[in-house]
Amino acid sequence: MGYEGPIYRPPSEADSLLIQATVGCPHNLCTFCMVYKQGVKFKVRPTHEVKEDLEAAFRTYGDTVRTIFLPAGNTIAMPTAALAEICRYASSLFSRLERITVYGSAQYIYRKGLENLRVLAAAGLTRIHLGLESGDDDILARVKKGSDRRVQVAAGRLARQAGLELNCYVILGLGGQDRTASHARETARAINEMAPDVVRLRTLVPKINTPLLEDIQTGRFKMLGPHGVIRETMALVAAINVPTRVVSDHYTNYVNVAGRLPGDKAALLSTLRKSLAADEAGFRSFFIGTQ
Ligand code: SF4
Repeated sequence: MGYEGPIYRPPSEADSLLIQATVGCPHNLCTFCMVYKQGVKFKVRPTHEVKEDLEAAFRTYGDTVRTIFLPAGNTIAMPTAALAEICRYASSLFSRLERITVYGSAQYIYRKGLENLRVLAAAGLTRIHLGLESGDDDILARVKKGSDRRVQVAAGRLARQAGLELNCYVILGLGGQDRTASHARETARAINEMAPDVVRLRTLVPKINTPLLEDIQTGRFKMLGPHGVIRETMALVAAINVPTRVVSDHYTNYVNVAGRLPGDKAALLSTLRKSLAADEAGFRSFFIGTQ
């Protein structure tokens, strides 16, 4: 099996077989993201090579593979026919396969349209990790996400309509001190409109070689401290009014919460409220991410 460039996967895919169908990210502009800023350009790997990787994995792991993650920034952007062929081939090799997952930004999911997403779901694609990051159009524009709230919501709805499991990522603190209220409010609004299966929380950690780090260092962007992020999380959770699961399964977060809304809302808010009693110095310290 061959890998090229940085290989990123979410913690929820820790047990998954990683097979690269694309390299890099076709967008590559988000101001907070360092993953593909230097080096690899986006490309789609030839389908026969991906199939060879699947065969090599089958020879090594046999039928033990239950989940496959196709890493790289936006594998959903690759041609539908090729991705469907890869999903079908993986399902034919691994008889106990339960899930195939990709990352996808809203604009690429949206461009696929319902018919292509249905083709992918029928071929065995199961889950999309959508980087919502924020529902606030001003923040989305500032961080150069490439989509506004309308497209984010439309993409999320299309994915769900096609029968794909939608995991939505939110970056706490992405609006800084200036836009924390609108970040929480508009993100909850987007979540309420697309009703994702899971909302995954991450907290902003500035990364080296990114425009956002430059803004922080020059004082143009004022980061929230731990209490600010926790208050923002409370405002977000309080405003979500659709059934969904909220998890903060990431090392960047100050407080780990997990629960199903609406049932666990009071418990989640209570955990967050209690954590405000701790002095800010007791939380993880500020650091600049290098990977
Ligand atoms: S779409 Fe994802 S991988 Fe691409 S630049 Fe933005 S955050 Fe990074």
